[in-house]
Amino acid sequence: MRLAVIGCGYVGLVSAACLAEIGHEVISVDTDLEKIAELNRGEVPIHEHLLPQLLERHRGKRLKFSSSVGDAVKQSEAVFITVGTPDSGGGEPDMSAVEAVAAEIAGSISEPKLIVEKSTVPVCTCESIRKVLLLHGAGTGRFSVASNPEFLREGTAVTDFLYPDRIVLGVDDDFSAAMLYSIYRPLTEGAYYRQAGVIPGPHAKAEPARVIVTNAKSAELIKHAANAFLAMKISYINMVANIAEAVGADIDQVCTGLGADARIGPQFLQAGIGYGGSCFPKDVAAFQNVAFQCGIDFALLSEVTRINLEQQRQFVKKVRAALWTLRNKRLGVLGLAFKGGTDDVRESPAIAIVRELLKEGAQVCAYDPAAMVKAREVLPAGAIEYAENEYQAAARRDALLLLTDWPQFARLDLHKLRTVMKLPIILDGRNLFNPNQMAAAGFLYYSVGRALRVTETMPNLWHGVRFAPQAVPVMTARPEGLPV
Ligand code: NAD
Repeated sequence: MRLAVIGCGYVGLVSAACLAEIGHEVISVDTDLEKIAELNRGEVPIHEHLLPQLLERHRGKRLKFSSSVGDAVKQSEAVFITVGTPDSGGGEPDMSAVEAVAAEIAGSISEPKLIVEKSTVPVCTCESIRKVLLLHGAGTGRFSVASNPEFLREGTAVTDFLYPDRIVLGVDDDFSAAMLYSIYRPLTEGAYYRQAGVIPGPHAKAEPARVIVTNAKSAELIKHAANAFLAMKISYINMVANIAEAVGADIDQVCTGLGADARIGPQFLQAGIGYGGSCFPKDVAAFQNVAFQCGIDFALLSEVTRINLEQQRQFVKKVRAALWTLRNKRLGVLGLAFKGGTDDVRESPAIAIVRELLKEGAQVCAYDPAAMVKAREVLPAGAIEYAENEYQAAARRDALLLLTDWPQFARLDLHKLRTVMKLPIILDGRNLFNPNQMAAAGFLYYSVGRALRVTETMPNLWHGVRFAPQAVPVMTARPEGLPV
């Protein structure tokens, strides 16, 4: 089919490349002329595993780039909207890009087309898009609007798109359903997985993708409810980790026991410095705002956000507890992206923590395999040093902080690290290492929800020191509602 994808960001570019990969003719559009020029030159504006290979495979053939929404719409049977919906400041998402695209699409509709809302949006957005299309001259009967929320994760976006857990089709009419079924048929009937040379999936045997057909409003709700639930799971486990740390239990052991319950599952039970990125923080706020508009107080979600921010503060407290004062302390930081596998630093807990450390007068030298260019854009010029690799970031430092879960950080040569660092102190906000292994390597190793190990190999200074629980303040008052 002939498709247009409007917005060449993390979702748009991956969607466009994957839709071309499964056989469609795709025009990928963005108003950012520099981005379009880069893409046409063969450059890849974001760091995303397998995306360069897909772009290389389809660019100029089944995948074209353009800055004209109108031209792309005229040439397409279905148009995917994948522009950003960032937080406008007060919890409500800024929907102006979606509205602008809808208005522009309206002027170019001359034959029946499907408009697919793929950006994450509040429930009832499809209705608003319909109204904008009509207001701007798209005749009734010339278009349908459907919701097709995207569940890809940065870092594994290509395989998430091609091998999804589910494809949600939020449709209010037969035309939308038929069109979306045709678009995704190579995945839902599995023909794509049987071809030679396809992008390999995460499992040895690829099953046809599961389709869930709902109405548009339900599909919109599914996306917000899913992201808010995942964020809640992270905040929940972080609170449990703080308790584990306070009493000397081990959050890894707790998670093994907890995740073995099929009703809970082991995924998203990773304690750390909390979630970030362009989705969870704003989607939790947006979903709470949706509830508020319905007269419902979804206070649970305020707690999810509060706990998440508190988790970053607790980590900075832990750095202070390990180093006493921070002024002029030389800190190495590994990781600036909000998660491993991406260059995205939007709402990154790592960036928030670096800012806090700088406020307290610490000197930071950071390394990230992909996110340093974007970090330079958000951190003040000259505020931190950027290293060329992990060991350079750690060299002659008073402590090393692990803030992003890049897999290569978990494979660091501990002996080499120990040799280059001034003091053997590591604060791991992502629990990448085993505490016993770190203690055996001679590190004073602080992580999240796991007790500090002090071994014979450590300097005498640390023997016999009782390390008070760092992660939770000692409660002075009994919380209301607890049984006596
Ligand atoms: P992004 O900021 O990376 O990309 C948005 C792109 O849209 C930019 O390139 C921008 O220039 C372009 N754009 C803005 N206005 C435009 C217009 N009028 N016409 C054409 N292009 C325009 O955003 P993203 O991370 O790709 O997210 C897009 C949407 O998908 C958001 O709603 C987000 O919540 C949702 N989403 C994101 C992810 C993710 O992991 N990033 C996952 C699932 C869903």
